[in-house]
Amino acid sequence: MPSTKAVDLAAHPLTTWQGPLGLPDFTRIGDGDFSGVFDAALKAHETEIEAISGNAETPTVENTLAALELGGEALDHVSSIFWCRAGAHTNEAIQALEREISPKMSRHFSAISMNERLFARIDDLYQRRETLKLDAETLRVLEKTWKGFVRSGAKLDAEGKKRLASINEELSSLGTTFGQNLLADERDWALFLDEADLAGLPEFLKSAMAEAAEMRGQKGRYAVTLSRSIYEPFSTFSERRDLREIAFRAFTMRGQNGGATDNTTVVRDMLRLRAEKAKLLGYASFAALKLDDTMAKTPEAVHTLLDPVWEKALEKAASDQTELQRLAAEAGSNEKFAAWDWRFYQEKLRAEKFAFDEAELKPYLQLDRVIDACFDVATRLFGITFEEKKGIATWHPDARVFVVRNADGSERGLFLADYFARPSKRSGAWMSALKSGYKLGHGSKPVIYNIMNFAKPPEGEAALLSVDEAKTLFHEFGHALHGMLTDVTWPSVAGTSVSRDFVELPSQLYEHWLTVPAVLEKHALHVKTGKPMPKALVDKMLAARTFGAGFATVEFTASALVDMAYHARPDAPNQPLRFEAETLEKLDMPDTIAMRHRTPQFGHIFSGDGYSAGYYSYMWSEVLDADAFAAFEETGDPFNPALAERLRKNVYAAGGSKDAEELYTAFRGKMPSPEAMMVKRGLV
Ligand SMILES: [Zn+2]
Repeated sequence: MPSTKAVDLAAHPLTTWQGPLGLPDFTRIGDGDFSGVFDAALKAHETEIEAISGNAETPTVENTLAALELGGEALDHVSSIFWCRAGAHTNEAIQALEREISPKMSRHFSAISMNERLFARIDDLYQRRETLKLDAETLRVLEKTWKGFVRSGAKLDAEGKKRLASINEELSSLGTTFGQNLLADERDWALFLDEADLAGLPEFLKSAMAEAAEMRGQKGRYAVTLSRSIYEPFSTFSERRDLREIAFRAFTMRGQNGGATDNTTVVRDMLRLRAEKAKLLGYASFAALKLDDTMAKTPEAVHTLLDPVWEKALEKAASDQTELQRLAAEAGSNEKFAAWDWRFYQEKLRAEKFAFDEAELKPYLQLDRVIDACFDVATRLFGITFEEKKGIATWHPDARVFVVRNADGSERGLFLADYFARPSKRSGAWMSALKSGYKLGHGSKPVIYNIMNFAKPPEGEAALLSVDEAKTLFHEFGHALHGMLTDVTWPSVAGTSVSRDFVELPSQLYEHWLTVPAVLEKHALHVKTGKPMPKALVDKMLAARTFGAGFATVEFTASALVDMAYHARPDAPNQPLRFEAETLEKLDMPDTIAMRHRTPQFGHIFSGDGYSAGYYSYMWSEVLDADAFAAFEETGDPFNPALAERLRKNVYAAGGSKDAEELYTAFRGKMPSPEAMMVKRGLV
């Protein structure tokens, strides 16, 4: 029975953090502790919110905005440890707790955003903001907070609030239905093959298909399924054109097969509700609502980026197709080149042009050396250093602890890293914070962590990485730097608290330093001989990066443009699929390439609204990172000190303390243009 009385938040190891280096004492935390501490911490936060909203004094920054930002400390502490455990080292007890805690948290925070007395105080400050003599960061935090309330409907009348709540509820349940329909279509379709049908397929794919067949009760056979991890390699390697066609048609029709799992009307209803929501909140379109607090700001700005890329991608894809058709003809095919041929012949071309084996590269990419490279680059660019502390208890013995120091030796914060895969860890790689860094109140030093899923080597052997894994390590470390270098006053704008289309800049940019020659020469050393990677191998690795860019850019950008077309209009189309077809026709979409995500299966934008009117952000970030790295290349020095300092100050240290456009311009002297990204992708 969870009891809130039994928990003393001022003494509990989950909330007081009195272990070594100011970390929680993980040796004193049991799985059974979370539930009671959560309840007590939620209660404590409610009391704090009540005190702020019920305060009889005139609202001030201190008694309202700062009190709101600093409130809920115990809840932050227990949450950060809990979500770390839920991702990096879970078990059945933690999973059960997740199901219990998620709805509690969402009710808690939605009650805060609906708190009318609280909003009245924020609004009072906001209306007087010009006379309060606020510094720029405080003014921005006030404006963001106010906008956050308004976007949750704080300014609507009772009827409007009711309608908004019901729209949100309907959207959330439609989003769930969309995802479940898609899943059902992916689960229910399989093409069962026998040994004789497997021409061209590599071993890893055969074994994945054998397992998929066995799971579907057809042991001894092989299943093509609609999971991307089987569908894509199958269409890349299968010599059987007839089977590739069947798989292609099934894959692109997911969510559009009629019957109970068809997503057509789900999409139509969602688009209608989104348009209505935008109108209710006073925006011209749903895209305008979603883009309001991003770097791009408007659908027009998104088009300024995507349109020129689209032109170049079409040109590149057309010339690539000519080459692929030549290959197909040489291989004796006299059929019209079709969408299910593209990946297959592209792979043939890749093998012909860039024949090299990942296995050749791996011995040069030792995990410990790549970690050193990450640290080394951070030291050269930003002056910070890392010292490992052994023997400190964390959530798992594999996690390592590093003290991060400023150039003058003072402590900046902590970096924790947990590199190896294990059954208790979810897949993927990510960065998060146990604590963010800020100056408000007593201040807080950042405690940032990275989680990876590299294969653990046998005892005594060095872990070796693939190029992609080494890139992932740099990527997540770039996010970690965003957290560790943060230098702001207010918690809500610290570290990675920036807009969706800016947050991948620090991470994607950092990846560029992995392949800087000086870094490879120093750190990419052969595990046995200690010799650096031969130049010829480096060149091949770099050249292979741009291969296939025409296809990849067309399939991605088509999806981004259709997403924007749906959401930038003030109303919703009656027939979304017809609208999709018309939009693609206007774009001159080649019939030999399909959208990466067609409407009935576009989970990014319909399974919840995470990336609705936002699929473009992946490319936006890529434009930023390519343009930002080009700034270094233009100086001829990848570690140019003056530029590195501008980068630190305006990107890695600034969090969301200023508008992203302002930050980027302060670093670069201008807004980015897509040129560098197009060069990086090999489109020009
Ligand atoms: Zn990322």
